[in-house]
Amino acid sequence: MKIFDSHCHLDDKSFKQDFGRVIQRATEAGVIRMMTIGINETTSKHALSLAQKHDGIYASVGVHPHDVKNCDESILKGLVKLTENEKVRAWGEIGLDYNRMYSPQQVQENWFERQLAIAAELELPMVFHERDSNGRFLDILKNHGNKINGVVHCFSGNKYELDQYLALGLYIGITGIVTIKNRGAQLRKLVTGVPSDRLLVETDAPYLVPAPQRNHARRNEPAYVKSVLLKLAEVRNESSEELAERVWENTCGFYNLDDRL
Ligand SMILES: [Zn+2]
Ligand SMILES: [Zn+2]
Repeated sequence: MKIFDSHCHLDDKSFKQDFGRVIQRATEAGVIRMMTIGINETTSKHALSLAQKHDGIYASVGVHPHDVKNCDESILKGLVKLTENEKVRAWGEIGLDYNRMYSPQQVQENWFERQLAIAAELELPMVFHERDSNGRFLDILKNHGNKINGVVHCFSGNKYELDQYLALGLYIGITGIVTIKNRGAQLRKLVTGVPSDRLLVETDAPYLVPAPQRNHARRNEPAYVKSVLLKLAEVRNESSEELAERVWENTCGFYNLDDRL
């Protein structure tokens, strides 16, 4: 089984001590490709440097809604420069987060729109983060006009939002939330209605440890994305091998990578 962790944060300091073993455990679990995601200038650079050192690791660059309060045009210019490296395969994570509200709402919206335009210009796939934006995230995507090639990572929305995302042609990123008893109940119902060619799996490591690993691990890591895939196959009543194959192709296609090794 070949698995692609479509969204993780391998630059996180919790991986510093045992990075080699984390990658080894991923490989042993079949997680042979990982997309490590930038959330600001520093982490985007760090993501790229990890990707340059490891075959199966790819990077995305961007400024997260939490971090846009410190964004400016020169930072974005620097990120655009990083995309010249072929290991950078996506722009993000970008979007809106009105749950934590670490950056003011209008500032979030301005930099989200600006980065949408930049990523579209560069023709890079986009990684979206959305939490409690009360329809504003959808409004902005719809106003953007052009066809958007993106994934709503860590999807945890409702049926209406899911239908809208699918209608926009977006991919749906599923995390370990799907394995968690109460918190994942709604998501387990909704994922049965996602066409298999729209599904991606992710850890969002070091966050969101899946239920099967929760009693022995506090930190999530790419190897555990297999638990997400197995739970998805179970609730969708599909063969895990076939679903794994399909999700692998989806992810490679989305990030513009050859799906053959
Ligand atoms: Zn996120
Ligand atoms: Zn993330």
